[in-house]
Amino acid sequence: MKAQIQKNCPFCKGKVTQRLGFAGVRLFECHQCGAMVSFNNKECNKNKAVALKYWNRRAEDDNLSAM
Ligand SMILES: [Zn+2]
Repeated sequence: MKAQIQKNCPFCKGKVTQRLGFAGVRLFECHQCGAMVSFNNKECNKNKAVALKYWNRRAEDDNLSAM
């Protein structure tokens, strides 16, 4: 499975990678500013693609809020 396009860090626009953190929580970690964002819900922790969808979603983005 190919990796989906991932948005950059919302704080510094740095490169971000997804990794599995403590207790199976998926984390998005910024290599530039060190921000770590996780969506700690069952859906995201179980499914990488769902977590990525959450990450790519922005509150002001109307296209993605209609999932
Ligand atoms: Zn950053």
